[in-house]
Amino acid sequence: MRILVTGGAGFVGSHLCDRLLADGHDVLAMDNLITGSTDNIAHLAGNRHFKFLYHDVTDYIYVPGHPDAVMHLASPASPIDFDRVPIQILKVGSLGTHNALGLALAKGARFLLASTSEVYGDPLVHPQPESYWGNVNPIGTRGVYDEAKRFAEAITMAYHRIHGVDTRIIRIFNTYGPRMRLDDGRVVPNFIGQALRGEPLTVYGDGSQTRSFCYVSDLVDGMVRLLLADEHDPVNVGNPTEMSILTFAQTINKLTGNPAGIIFKPLPPDDPHVRQPDITRARTILGWEPKVLLEDGLTQAIAYFQSKL
Ligand code: NAD
Ligand code: UDP
Repeated sequence: MRILVTGGAGFVGSHLCDRLLADGHDVLAMDNLITGSTDNIAHLAGNRHFKFLYHDVTDYIYVPGHPDAVMHLASPASPIDFDRVPIQILKVGSLGTHNALGLALAKGARFLLASTSEVYGDPLVHPQPESYWGNVNPIGTRGVYDEAKRFAEAITMAYHRIHGVDTRIIRIFNTYGPRMRLDDGRVVPNFIGQALRGEPLTVYGDGSQTRSFCYVSDLVDGMVRLLLADEHDPVNVGNPTEMSILTFAQTINKLTGNPAGIIFKPLPPDDPHVRQPDITRARTILGWEPKVLLEDGLTQAIAYFQSKL
């Protein structure tokens, strides 16, 4: 296939490009580098099956020829971006998704939306199945991301129902690995960066909030399986091993041998108290489940961040 990956110079997008190329596809990565970096795809320069196009997908997207698939990942994704670039997030989720869907319609390409567990907000149902409609504060600082992705899901389903576009929606839960930015603000790079610098880890709140961390190769495998499956309703992809952020901080300090301990900082507004994917649908529809153990994935991530310090 010829596949367009929007957000292809980002953390997940660049790993997806690697996987698609390894599977024998031609890949066009499109990115405006607002949170991504050409460093993430530098190793692909000179690969004749790969092209990079610098473009903001909130503007009309032109792609020569006929891509068979559009995988739409473009969007800042870290909570610090919610305060830094809120309008760009709203625009890429709405206008950017509209343009990417318009391209898929015009070219007869299948379409995959990278959605998020944030559509569930601060969930009142736990773990979260796809049938749960969520608990989102539309006017809070996280609302810019949550509502942009909820809009993106809505317009994706509308293009499927009205225009017959062959769409898929993946709801991605916390994913980590090499190529996250050290200053990205998300918990994995924050904690590992602090630990490697011998600083105390900044736990927000009392650290009792939970998350479930998925290694990037597992996520990318789920994305590819969904692209190839015939499923239009959303599918959760994430690792169901849930832990408190305090336990996670202790794990990072242990793995890195950081003696500096932990300090507590205020919990950001609307920070979800719990998060764990129900992956029954991914298991049954995609035959997917995560393979990489947390300790193994963290060892890879720590080695990467060490090389970036
Ligand atoms: P990232 O910031 O590393 O990647 C996003 C990429 O999109 C960046 O390269 C950025 O420059 C690009 N981009 C943003 N706006 C753009 C625009 N208007 N035009 C073109 N390119 C644009 O983040 P990531 O973690 O790799 O996330 C990738 C996707 O996966 C996002 O859609 C995100 O919402 C989703 N997601 C990620 C996670 C996770 O834990 N990593 C969880 C849930 C959902
Ligand atoms: N967090 C933390 N310390 C940090 C960064 C994040 O305690 O330095 C917490 C954050 O409050 C949240 C969890 O870790 O409860 C995961 O945060 P992240 O920013 O990675 O993404 P989220 O899952 O909230 O979207």
